[in-house]
Amino acid sequence: DLLISQIAAGEVVERPASVLKELLENSLDAGATKIEVRLEEGGVRLIHVADDGCGIAADDLPLALSRHATSKITSLEDLECVASYGFRGEALASIAAVARVTVTSKQVGAAHAWRLQRSGDEGDSVQPAALSGGTMIEVADLYFNTPARRKFLKAEATEFAHCDEVFRRIALARPDVAFSLTHQGREKWRLASASAVRPFENFSRRAKEIIGEAFFPHARAIDVAAGPLRLSGLAAMPAYSRSGRDEQYFFVNGRFVRDKLLMHAARQAYEDILHGARHPAYVLFLELDPAGVDVNVHPAKTEVRFREARGIHQFVFHAIQRTLATPLS
Ligand code: ADP
Ligand code: MG
Repeated sequence: DLLISQIAAGEVVERPASVLKELLENSLDAGATKIEVRLEEGGVRLIHVADDGCGIAADDLPLALSRHATSKITSLEDLECVASYGFRGEALASIAAVARVTVTSKQVGAAHAWRLQRSGDEGDSVQPAALSGGTMIEVADLYFNTPARRKFLKAEATEFAHCDEVFRRIALARPDVAFSLTHQGREKWRLASASAVRPFENFSRRAKEIIGEAFFPHARAIDVAAGPLRLSGLAAMPAYSRSGRDEQYFFVNGRFVRDKLLMHAARQAYEDILHGARHPAYVLFLELDPAGVDVNVHPAKTEVRFREARGIHQFVFHAIQRTLATPLS
């Protein structure tokens, strides 16, 4: 059973960054408004995520680490329109098969917190613990029991860079949540949350922090809706390029995606206006009826499949093209 778990884990737990993504999404699903991340050695030695979300009941702690235990869907219809980030109930189980996992949690109203520890196939231990609220998950020594996989991990700086990218994507999409991240005790990010009163301004403030001020003099706000489709965010003229790196972020219903169709539509729009622009930079949020998009393609991948691919492509192309064609006011 552990072997099967370890094989399955390879699907979800490619590297520290994939663990971080799952933990951050769980915290968001738990309604967290504040999430703190601590990493050691690029996340290989330690990934620590603490949130102020709803917490996990003591009785449910072992369940949280069991395969196919999810608290997020109760029917097959739910699969069609998942609002939460996670719904398979296999991330924590997979992570626990290849790392030493400690979950400490306190539900509102509970007298105190409980801590569950598991490493590989050693049994669980559940003990009373101290925590003022929410959930704290620590994933230590990734691949400690699967040295063959551990060999595939890259240098600490590379693994940290992947973690940082995952963090940036999630923080961009959730300006309503406060985030912090430290690596080796050094603070890399501290992002205050914004009230949801003026969402676009909140988003732009967060985007300024994540992508950098230099993006903004060149950026145009997008907000185009057509029927059930809406595209909003910022698209910059390619005068902006941060150290030659492309800053292209697409989110579909709040989830970061790297989708060929969307990126192609954006590239075409830029080419149409700028005739061969090299560094389009954008942060764009596509919203549509959840039934119109399959996010279930692969657990750890960022692909999606649209039911009306042609229509989506056209809508995104025109929305960006029209925005870029408008002079900066
Ligand atoms: P999924 O997210 O697909 O449900 P996971 O393996 O990621 O599966 O998590 C298993 C379960 O553990 C979740 O369904 C949830 O009930 C619980 N859980 C995990 N992380 C947290 C958290 N940070 N706060 C509250 N509950 C959590
Ligand atoms: Mg999850």
